[in-house]
Amino acid sequence: MWQVIGQTAVSYLQHGLEAGTLAHAYLLVGPPHVGKMTLALNLAQALNCQAAERPCLECTSCQRIASANHADVQVIGLTQNEDLAEAKLIGIDQIKQIQHSASFPPFEGNRKVFIIDGAELLSTEAANCLLKTLEEPTDKVTFILLTVNDRLLPATVVSRCQRLELPPMSTSEVAAALADRGIEPERTRLLAGLSHGCLGWAISVAADDSLLQQRDDELNRLLDVITADCEKRFAYVAQLAAHFNQNRGAVYGVLDLWLDYWRDLMLVKTGCTDIITNVDRIEGLVEMAKGYRLAQIKAFIESIRAAAEQLRQNANPRLALEVLMLDIPKKEGEENLATRLLVKHG
Ligand SMILES: [Zn+2]
Repeated sequence: MWQVIGQTAVSYLQHGLEAGTLAHAYLLVGPPHVGKMTLALNLAQALNCQAAERPCLECTSCQRIASANHADVQVIGLTQNEDLAEAKLIGIDQIKQIQHSASFPPFEGNRKVFIIDGAELLSTEAANCLLKTLEEPTDKVTFILLTVNDRLLPATVVSRCQRLELPPMSTSEVAAALADRGIEPERTRLLAGLSHGCLGWAISVAADDSLLQQRDDELNRLLDVITADCEKRFAYVAQLAAHFNQNRGAVYGVLDLWLDYWRDLMLVKTGCTDIITNVDRIEGLVEMAKGYRLAQIKAFIESIRAAAEQLRQNANPRLALEVLMLDIPKKEGEENLATRLLVKHG
């Protein structure tokens, strides 16, 4: 009863479970909301399940893991610990605490499972400390590291784990899974496109209208920024940058929204309107595409990608986003902000 669908990693783990050949450490790699945490919890359930067909999701053990009440299954990460809301990295203390816990036998289940969410955010000290534990696997302990990008982890840590990739599903696979859940066709098409192959995201948005409303509001703010003067653009950036330290995911989400929108502009410009993501914004996209040349749109898409990459490499968020604001292309017959500033300051 694995809850993740369309991923070969599931059949791989199922086989390992049946053959008794599971590794002591896994690294699940895939984009946000693709199902890494769901799969990690399912594996923890399978390892501790009391039924014949594991994971059953119904026995006491499976249910206690699902409700985060199982003594032998622990999730560590930045978002799991409220007192670490200001922290930017997973610290060595969190890893030492796991090591301490791992030195005792399972309390109520068959196996202790430690899930490290956002493993790319391990501090160097923490990663080195974890490495020692991974190098000396203990019986009855399984580590599951989750990451969006394993290149941001030390190669030594990656080499000690069995790496399983969870690629995004195709849009049609997500659409089919949403239709199976009884979601209406128009909504299915929009959510499947916006999901980028991450079914978990699509399901959570389908269940909560406010999330789609938030996306609408954010998109409107971004469109306002395009026509705003430099004062307003920089005020927007200051607000976004201040938000970055508390919630990196939200800022990456805003950049993804931009990327989708400008990619759609490119598709409209090249006549590929049938494969755009923001299907509910088609009229605005067609109108806006008239104002730009294809080369301008492509260049700005590159600027958005560069800004996101710089943020991932811990560049100053305000600076990276300000540069992005200056790169917004001018519409035909209008000079862009960088030129305007140059003129203004001589
Ligand atoms: Zn069970």
